[in-house]
Amino acid sequence: MIFEGLAEKLQNTFKKLKGKGKLSEKDVKAAMREVKLALLEADVNYKVVKNFINKITQRSIGHEVLESLTPGQQVIKIVNEELTNLMGTTQSKINFASKPPTIIMLVGLQGAGKTTTGGKLGGLLKKMGKRPLLVACDVYRPAAIKQLHVVGEKLDIPVFSMGDKVNPVNIAKAGIEHAKKYGNDVVIIDTAGRLHIDEKLMDELKNIKSEVNPHEILLVVDAMTGQDAVNVAETFNSQLGIDGVILTKLDGDTRGGAALSVRAVTDKPIKYIGVGEKLSDLEPFYPDRMASRILGMGDILSLIEKAQASLDEKKLKNLEKKIRTQEFNLEDFLEQLEQMKNMGPLSQLIEMLPGVSNKQLKNLQIDDKELVRIEAIIQSMTPEERRNPSIIKASRRKRIAKGSGTSVQEVNKLLKQFEQTKKMMKQFSDMEKGLKKGGRFK
Ligand code: GDP
Repeated sequence: MIFEGLAEKLQNTFKKLKGKGKLSEKDVKAAMREVKLALLEADVNYKVVKNFINKITQRSIGHEVLESLTPGQQVIKIVNEELTNLMGTTQSKINFASKPPTIIMLVGLQGAGKTTTGGKLGGLLKKMGKRPLLVACDVYRPAAIKQLHVVGEKLDIPVFSMGDKVNPVNIAKAGIEHAKKYGNDVVIIDTAGRLHIDEKLMDELKNIKSEVNPHEILLVVDAMTGQDAVNVAETFNSQLGIDGVILTKLDGDTRGGAALSVRAVTDKPIKYIGVGEKLSDLEPFYPDRMASRILGMGDILSLIEKAQASLDEKKLKNLEKKIRTQEFNLEDFLEQLEQMKNMGPLSQLIEMLPGVSNKQLKNLQIDDKELVRIEAIIQSMTPEERRNPSIIKASRRKRIAKGSGTSVQEVNKLLKQFEQTKKMMKQFSDMEKGLKKGGRFK
């Protein structure tokens, strides 16, 4: 989970603050020490942390905050605002050229995810109604050109290449001509990377830049490399000049420091984040939503967008009604699991829900392969059992396990998961009601 350690630590710190009716300057300072340590452990740049803590402390020890009725909440609100500012305040979009084609040049070190991300970005733009062309300029990494063709084929996006014997500058120029001729309104240039930044790489990129005048130079960096990612961004920005960053592998075991430092260090925004290996796993980056996620306030907006993109609206409405009226049963559970499967790994979705702790998340971990077994178990139940799982006592559990070719433990586990989901949904729907009444944090 993105920011797992950081989110947990910050949430624990703030839980303590929220519990207090009154806060002293000392309380705030103690909390800020904890926040500082948590950020440093998350591999956030030291200078960035220092500035950030100073700002929050100054704002938090003002009279309005400490003497308010809800000082703890006020401090969290300030942290939320400052975290959002740290990551760039608002979403930074691609600047499309007024006269197409828009030329996007992807740069970065080898293995950062450039080629994959080129495809993912093309896929996103295609969904927006654009007609992208991928141009293969990585003539050094063996198989990079083939990889781009494979990606393009999967997404049904054309790929322009000239093999690995032609100068990348010429390939880029020819690619742009090709796009003009065939009506592609966005050109995504996949450039070569190296294991480390070297002069030759930079010279080649500078050449391409000066010859094709890209509208956007986006640097692809691997979030797992933490501080190194930030250093790479700083170097690329000072030597080549970049317009934004795409941070990949945020789904991995990253501490998240890069996401929090890149903007402050380079003054360039993160435009997209890579959240998995699938070609649909690229998302626009929203600083405010990310801050909410870190503070355990959930990311309902992203969840809704994901849902809208992949769920059946009618079924969703029906489900929503059932959740509200507490009629949600095992049949719905099965249907919901299947629909959610379309949206990506379940754990990724659940972590967007507000108020779901990491512990709850771990209890809920549902392996996507397990779905098949879950389906079998539910199908071995009678309609009455599905509607009213509380009647499923020991003998029924044995029968269901036998019928589905699973074990009683597995049946028990499923029933427990169902109860937890139901509880979580109630939490979710209560919170939504709370928000409608005027909001918790605003
Ligand atoms: P390039 O050398 O920069 O072109 O890197 P590639 O596009 O070949 O990517 C390197 C590896 O990173 C591949 O195995 C990709 O599947 C993987 N990758 C790229 N983006 C992501 C991401 O957001 N999440 C995960 N988990 N893997 C990614």
